[in-house]
Amino acid sequence: MKNKDLLQVAQEYGCPTYVYDAEKIASQYKRLTAAFKDVENLKIKYAVKALSNISVLKYIYSLGGGLDTVSLQEIQLGLEAGVPANKIIFTPNGVAFSELEAAAELGVQINIDSLSMLEKFGSKYPETPVCVRINPHIMAGGNRKISVGHIDSKFGISIHQIPHVLRIVENTNMHINGIHMHTGSDILDVEVFLQAAEILFSTASKFKNLEFLDFGSGFKVPYHENDIETNIEELGKKLSKRFNAFCKNYGKSISLSFEPGKFLVSQSGYFLTKVNAIKQTTSTVFAQVDSGFNHLIRPMFYGAEHEIINISHPTKHKRFYSVVGYICETDTFASNKQIAEISEDDILAFKNAGAYCFSMASNYNSRFKPAEVLWYKNKALLIRKREIFKDLISNQISIDLE
Ligand SMILES: *Cc1c(COP(=O)(O)O)cnc(C)c1O
Repeated sequence: MKNKDLLQVAQEYGCPTYVYDAEKIASQYKRLTAAFKDVENLKIKYAVKALSNISVLKYIYSLGGGLDTVSLQEIQLGLEAGVPANKIIFTPNGVAFSELEAAAELGVQINIDSLSMLEKFGSKYPETPVCVRINPHIMAGGNRKISVGHIDSKFGISIHQIPHVLRIVENTNMHINGIHMHTGSDILDVEVFLQAAEILFSTASKFKNLEFLDFGSGFKVPYHENDIETNIEELGKKLSKRFNAFCKNYGKSISLSFEPGKFLVSQSGYFLTKVNAIKQTTSTVFAQVDSGFNHLIRPMFYGAEHEIINISHPTKHKRFYSVVGYICETDTFASNKQIAEISEDDILAFKNAGAYCFSMASNYNSRFKPAEVLWYKNKALLIRKREIFKDLISNQISIDLE
């Protein structure tokens, strides 16, 4: 999106507002499929938790994508968006057995990540094929909160427990149709990913009736100019070759799945905020915007750096600012960053605001959640209304005090 497009959205819908550039989502989707063009059956399952607006789900489905979901509600959102159940995989962690049952009822592909659930499910639904999520114990991922493959991780069934999985399969006569791994977010090293893939291949060779291998996601995207990112093209070349060799050995051309969240939507998103005040202290110049970690928590939660640009005055001389919110707690979006000189009422755009931004927003401080807009074919389409006071109190019950 161009600067003037962002300004147009801010003018039309006010601030704070999230806007997503559909064209960017499509180009990332195409980049991924192009990198794996040598794989005969490639399946992209978008990780709904990154950004779960049904219009976005609908759009990704129109590009050819399916969905990766982690809750019953995400499955329901996918179905609501018109994505058929057979294009949805359910990869929960630590959910109640009843949630797996409900998902099976809806006809989505179930992915099981514990021995006890596998045994329960296999005993009750031996006819329903399931995928098994393994933990390859490879340390990958940008930081410990988002790294899920290490030895102490709660995710997946340890590869050391595969004999136990095989015993459950034998005893219950259940059908395992896929093997899955997801080692974490922000993978920088293609070689580490390939190492984990080797573990997946050797595990997969122990199962006879597979239809797919799912390599999860965790691709790192750039957050600023010259930032490092996962080399998708290199990964595509190397993993495709290895995967095709696996299929040959396995005696069957099965599918290769990915579940990208951040890779597809992060860079499509901009978070538009308005500057309420400029406050000069003895050491810092603060730009205070009409938002906080209630709307965008990643900088405070993960130390994520979202580049901030002044779209009202993009060409002004750059000065140093700390950009903070209006929450009654420290909510620093960025400290000491160079931004084109800011005046009160200017609109600031936060980049990389597509993934894990709106979907992690809350009503803290009793503020309304922002509006969401999809920039589609050079038009700003509203895909979520800004909340109003009625939304804040709709589920609250005012009791009668004697
Ligand atoms: C969160 C998640 C993803 C998506 O991860 P990204 O880093 O956003 O690409 C994929 N698969 C599973 C199982 C997940 O939990």
